[in-house]
Amino acid sequence: MLILGGGINGAGVALDAAARGWRVALIDKGDFAAGTSSASSKLIHGGLRYLERGHVGLVYEALRERRWLGRAAPHLVRPLPFVLPYYQSGRLRPWQWRLGLTVYDLLAGADNLKRSRPLPAPQLRRLAPTLAPAGLLGGAAYYDALMDDARLCLAVVQTAVAHGACVANYVEAVAFEMAGGTIAGVQARDRVSGDTLVIRARQVVNAAGPWVDAVCRLAGDAAGPHLQPTKGVHVILPDCGLPAAFLLLHPRDGRVFFVIPWMGKTLLGTTDTVTPEGPDALAVAPEEIAYLRDGWAHYFPVHASIPVLGSFAGLRPLIRAELGATPSARTREYRVFTSPSGLVSVAGGKYTTFRAMAEDIVNLLGERLGRTSRCRTQRLLLHGTPSAPWEAFRKDATAKLTADLGLPDDVAGRLVDRYGVCVDDVARYLGTPAERERLVEGEPELRGELAYQRAHEMAVFPADHVLRRTRVGLYCPQAGLGSG
Ligand SMILES: Cc1cc2nc3c(=O)[nH]c(=O)nc-3n(C[C@H](O)[C@H](O)[C@H](O)COP(=O)(O)OP(=O)(O)OC[C@H]3O[C@@H](n4cnc5c(N)ncnc54)[C@H](O)[C@@H]3O)c2cc1C
Repeated sequence: MLILGGGINGAGVALDAAARGWRVALIDKGDFAAGTSSASSKLIHGGLRYLERGHVGLVYEALRERRWLGRAAPHLVRPLPFVLPYYQSGRLRPWQWRLGLTVYDLLAGADNLKRSRPLPAPQLRRLAPTLAPAGLLGGAAYYDALMDDARLCLAVVQTAVAHGACVANYVEAVAFEMAGGTIAGVQARDRVSGDTLVIRARQVVNAAGPWVDAVCRLAGDAAGPHLQPTKGVHVILPDCGLPAAFLLLHPRDGRVFFVIPWMGKTLLGTTDTVTPEGPDALAVAPEEIAYLRDGWAHYFPVHASIPVLGSFAGLRPLIRAELGATPSARTREYRVFTSPSGLVSVAGGKYTTFRAMAEDIVNLLGERLGRTSRCRTQRLLLHGTPSAPWEAFRKDATAKLTADLGLPDDVAGRLVDRYGVCVDDVARYLGTPAERERLVEGEPELRGELAYQRAHEMAVFPADHVLRRTRVGLYCPQAGLGSG
């Protein structure tokens, strides 16, 4: 089986199939996760807001998967406390939020990270003194999880490789090989060397995210477009010392937006708009930044003038069926469809539920190909996950790096979070003072990591290092996007 697209969905399908013992190849025309899968809100969550739309099944499944991911990749997916403040002027009344949180807790059941609890106004003001006090009625605390999306996708790719998958970034499918009207493989171009190659497969899967329609057209499928992507922008601000993430309703339109402590910074997002922009030329517009800043300034007026360090945009590959609905109301469920040529495409979905989605797709393909192997991913640990309990492992590994290499605690801790058990291998690239130099003054990423990433993580270009293997280029332009 050949999978086109090394975002989280393609990576998930590759892992599921490889773990069943199938012969699997995966190619991506850019870097792994360079599309939507590095531009998410970084939440592994049930999606409290989806309850408002009655998407109970989606929330239930996502909460199951949240639990699995916390176990399968604890270095990359961590519990995150949330505060949900209730305001007099809010679109939803406190009782509606309380009902939603009760249902959220019930749906999580034994998989819950921690039960939600009420936060009376005085307690909330003590906890978050910079939160706008006017009209604040109180609130609630609950838990979801935070991830490093680009590295999680890479960990899924690496786990697929450990199960025998053959993967390559910077290899683009440019045409299909046909046999008797059916797809028998693809012609591909190596975007680094310029070479072309033919990859033959019994089944080709189109997991190209927002490029799904372009790949369908390449296969001669005239039925599309199947997608109506919406654009989501985030901005990154300096650390504001927030005690938790915040779920807020934007004062302009009542949409949910998040304020999230991430990588020692503050992440604001997201917008959700229909756009004519294609996935290859997506840019953040000043009005999108202004929209997010307005929401921020409304709730955190003390920090209103704090500078924006960076921004990024992604396209949600949403299915076209519900075009009547507003972008935020459209479902995050996924669809699988088959082109007349036999190409199987997958569109939609959420990052959080990629494993379950991959299980369904590979089951379906198994029926088609006459293979009845069972899914094994529920029991797998992803690349970098220690067999010891995470907290104990993190403490020991951080202490060892500090003692052996003389690294400050914050740098050592962030290395362990980034690489999990592989941090021992990374340490071999940090032997000299030059290798232990910081990439950017004040940030914990080290120069020696680049060589490790080239040797073990298929990083090729500067952006692979600073936007996806580490994320420092998102908020520090001086991280060296233009240099090797
Ligand atoms: C703003 C935003 C916030 C989000 N936040 C969350 C969140 O917090 N939690 C959550 O669960 N979900 C979230 N999502 C949803 C989630 O990020 C997406 O559902 C998921 O990343 C989609 O992954 P994908 O693999 O389908 O697409 P992509 O990641 O875009 O991968 C598609 C890949 O296909 C490759 N490709 C394209 N054409 C070709 C070709 N011809 N040959 C080879 N390769 C090709 C591309 O290079 C790309 O890497 C968010 C989405 C957005 C946009």
